[in-house]
Amino acid sequence: MKANTLSKVVQYRGTELNTKGWQQEAALRMLMNNLHPDVAEHPEELVVYGGIGKAARNWESFDAIVRSLKELENDETLLIQSGKPVAVFKSHTNAPRVLIANSNIVPAFANWDTFHELDKKGLMMYGQMTAGSWIYIGSQGIVQGTYETFAELAKQHFGESLKGTITLTAGLGGMGGAQPLAVTMAGGVCIGIDVDESRIDRRIETRYTDVKTDSLDEAIRLAEKAKKDGIALSIGLLGNAAEILPEMIARGFTPDVLTDQTSAHDPLNGYIPTGMTLETAAELRSADAEEYVKRSKASMAKHVSAMIEMMDKGAITFDYGNNIRQVAKDEGVERAFDFPGFVPAYIRPQFCEGKGPFRWVALSGDPEDIRKTDEVILREFSYNTHLCNWIKMAQEKIQFQGLPSRICWLGYGERARFGKIINDMVASGELSAPIVIGRDHLDSGSVASPNRETEAMKDGSDAVSDWPILNAMINAVGGATWVSFHHGGGVGMGYSQHAGMVIVADGTKDAEERIERVLTTDPGMGVVRHADAGYDLAIQTARDKGIKIPMLEG
Ligand code: NAD
Repeated sequence: MKANTLSKVVQYRGTELNTKGWQQEAALRMLMNNLHPDVAEHPEELVVYGGIGKAARNWESFDAIVRSLKELENDETLLIQSGKPVAVFKSHTNAPRVLIANSNIVPAFANWDTFHELDKKGLMMYGQMTAGSWIYIGSQGIVQGTYETFAELAKQHFGESLKGTITLTAGLGGMGGAQPLAVTMAGGVCIGIDVDESRIDRRIETRYTDVKTDSLDEAIRLAEKAKKDGIALSIGLLGNAAEILPEMIARGFTPDVLTDQTSAHDPLNGYIPTGMTLETAAELRSADAEEYVKRSKASMAKHVSAMIEMMDKGAITFDYGNNIRQVAKDEGVERAFDFPGFVPAYIRPQFCEGKGPFRWVALSGDPEDIRKTDEVILREFSYNTHLCNWIKMAQEKIQFQGLPSRICWLGYGERARFGKIINDMVASGELSAPIVIGRDHLDSGSVASPNRETEAMKDGSDAVSDWPILNAMINAVGGATWVSFHHGGGVGMGYSQHAGMVIVADGTKDAEERIERVLTTDPGMGVVRHADAGYDLAIQTARDKGIKIPMLEG
């Protein structure tokens, strides 16, 4: 069965089309890429990352999506409802080829119970952020954001780098697996706990983690020695975080930096309760989901309580976007929100300038195409030393997973400029095939998520989700190749709404115009959203760049 289904995932490469145009081809290749065995965490279940974030609702839907994309005309638009293709309408050539709505539930019903009920009936799937919107690029997609976070943390607390510090975290999954690499890139030592050995092995194979151990004592010994010697080192430690943190406290160990990226946003599928193996957890999950969730939440409460204890002992502690504080708070941990989320603590100023996890993918499959675009970044953005350092480090340390791709945080103005350059390079033949340009939903103007991207907004507008809806609509109007609107990504059902966009640079004049429009409105929404909330940097950016905001004073 497994072999059968996976054989449907075909990795198309080169310049030959399997569809009626490069826009459809891009959607097809990116869907397949999301499920590439080197990219997806559980491709045989259509699961890409982030707990049960899927690319299609089931294999029948997958087949129908592939068929539809292959037949789709250049003036048609395919509609996807929670991973299932539901309609093809005639639109026009500059309209999106695909519109996607995933996991959306009417607000009063928007919780995991309703979701699981609908999921069981075959009416819904969990799209996470880039899983159901076909722009996941493996762990690289998050590495730079994670690096930006740790680099900013280092700047705020330790001078310029993490050298001579130990960061403790848990969760070495699709996204969390970027943490050890980002910490070592910032010069530090990382202990990354994961309860699933295969996840640690995968991070070692892809060079995101240096060594592994199942001994807590050995992990502490290795980490303290590297810290003393000022050496960057990442250690994968096998175990359950909710058990190991209290043991560390008992041994008198306090890390310098502390966070967590287990899939706590999904207590049923993303978090392993204490006292269980992966096997016993799987048995309980299918036999008694309610009991599983109860144990899982109780374990998260222990986990967060231990984090607070370590914070009190001096560890710089932050939430890394998995909603674990909310679960602990609901379980009665009064001080759960005593440590901040990573966005207000380290990232928001970047959002004010429309900066976020911009990415591009070589549809040719040829790494040389990405190398050439890297060179452009180094040349065109040479004034941005931090960005250029990132590109050089990425060239050296990032192993491509699936289609070659690159991520870098570009802001308003920069994205449109770079997009045009890429399109010109495709037109001139310098690049061997079109390039897909997209981003994470975790971006400056595309998310409403009060425990994450919009935590502690200056004007209290944390829960206002008009912004991502406007983001999706303006990007669709501008002619993005596909646009998505999801619920529950990152932090789980009920806690977020967010939009995605992807646009193809196929070298045509039409594409150039679409790129100019969409890569302006998309980061523009980030600047506008933060200017509206009263952030001076966003207001200044809007003024400097001439973004029209009708009610901006002065
Ligand atoms: P994933 O499901 O691929 O990986 C989660 C990992 O946690 C797995 O390897 C699992 O074995 C491990 N785990 C579960 N329970 C554990 C426990 N008790 N102790 C130790 N390890 C345990 O998920 P992912 O894609 O890596 O995402 C992780 C979380 O981070 C999600 O909640 C996701 O929504 C969030 N996220 C944050 C950001 C960000 O930028 N901050 C971005 C994307 C995702």
